[in-house]
Amino acid sequence: MSSILKFKRFYLKYSKNISFSQFFKPLFIVHNLLYYFIMIEYFTEALVLDKEDSGEIDGLVHFYTEELGKVTGKARGVKKMTSKLNAHLEPIHFVKVRLISGKNGYFQIADTLSFKKELKKEIKNSPENLAKFLRISRFIKDMTFEMQTDFGLWQAIKKIFSSNAEEFLAYRLILKNLGFDPEYAACDFCGNKKISYFHQQDHNFLCQKCASPCTKEARHHQTFSENTLLIRLL
Ligand SMILES: [Zn+2]
Repeated sequence: MSSILKFKRFYLKYSKNISFSQFFKPLFIVHNLLYYFIMIEYFTEALVLDKEDSGEIDGLVHFYTEELGKVTGKARGVKKMTSKLNAHLEPIHFVKVRLISGKNGYFQIADTLSFKKELKKEIKNSPENLAKFLRISRFIKDMTFEMQTDFGLWQAIKKIFSSNAEEFLAYRLILKNLGFDPEYAACDFCGNKKISYFHQQDHNFLCQKCASPCTKEARHHQTFSENTLLIRLL
C-alpha cells in the first residue's frame, strides 16, 4: 500500500472521532488544508439549510452535517428536470449525503438519500411550520462557520426539527450550543437579567425596553436599523 493511501486511511479514521476534533482544534487549519489537497469522501447525515443557483444548471447547497459541521456542496446538473439529486436537496430536508472534497474548497455532492420522512409530512401540512423551520435553518446557516464540527449542535438540530416546539425555544437551544447561553445572559445595554431578544448581527442580548425602537435607550444606542435582525427569545 502506498504511503499516501496509508496516511489517507489514518486521517479518515481519526478525523471522524469527535474527541480528536475537539482536543486538537489547532489542527483545524491543517484539517482544512487537507481537504484542499486530498480527495476525501464522506457519507454523513445532514440537514439542508439552503440552496442557491450556480450557473445554468448547477446548484450550491448549504448543509449542516453530523461529521463536518456546516459545508457547501456543489450539485452538478441539479436544475435539470431529470436530476435524481434535486428532490432531496430542498431546504429543511434531512438527507444522507455523499460528499467528495474538491480542490476548490467546495464539496461535490455525489449522491443523497432522504430520511426522516415523517418530518416532511408534518411540515407539508402546515405553512406556519414550514415558515418557522425555514427561519430556523436560515438562522443556523447565518450563525455557524464552515467546517467546524459540533456534535452538540447537531444533536440540538435533530431535536428541534423532530419536534414542534415553540420557535423561541429552538433559538435558545441553538444559541446555548453556540456558546451564547440565554440562561446566563443579561441585557448588553442596561444589565437587566430578563432578556427578550438576541441581536443577530452584533451577538448582543437585549431586554424588552432596550430593544424597543420607541424608547430613549434604543435611540441613545442608535443600534437599530430597519434591517436589524432581532431574534425573539421569550
Ligand atoms: Zn436593557
